[in-house]
Amino acid sequence: MVPRSRAVHARAAARRRQKLVTDPETSARLGRIRQRDTAAELAVRRIIHQLGHRFRVGNRDLPGSPDIANRKRHWAIFVNGCFWHRHNGCSRATTPKRNREFWEAKFEANIVRDRRVASTLHELGYKTITIWECEIADQIALQRNLKRVLEASRNGL
Ligand SMILES: [Zn+2]
Repeated sequence: MVPRSRAVHARAAARRRQKLVTDPETSARLGRIRQRDTAAELAVRRIIHQLGHRFRVGNRDLPGSPDIANRKRHWAIFVNGCFWHRHNGCSRATTPKRNREFWEAKFEANIVRDRRVASTLHELGYKTITIWECEIADQIALQRNLKRVLEASRNGL
């Protein structure tokens, strides 16, 4: 059971968020954030499978819940949305004009969290691989890069 005061607080926060997100494009984007099994994620899984690597998805027991991971080989993959995780220099990493401060604070928190997760995984001996959703457009290049990176970890490099 969630204590009543916290539930009330959560509802108020949800209302505030709703008020902040007014234009349909932004709210559609926000809605996608929490989705699992996105097209990008499925594409990456398919490639890794084709390359003959085994993996698990979800991985809630690892820092940051990597989308795809192999505990034995110690690699963890995050398939990141360019908007939400601020892909540097990417045209998808726009900042909504409305409520700019709110967004900037939110983005900054995401960047800090991503960095902290990567460093915690590193301490646990994991190689962290970030794949940006825009990279899915060129699956041949993506496959080539993943092959190289994952082979290296297979050989213990
Ligand atoms: Zn991007």
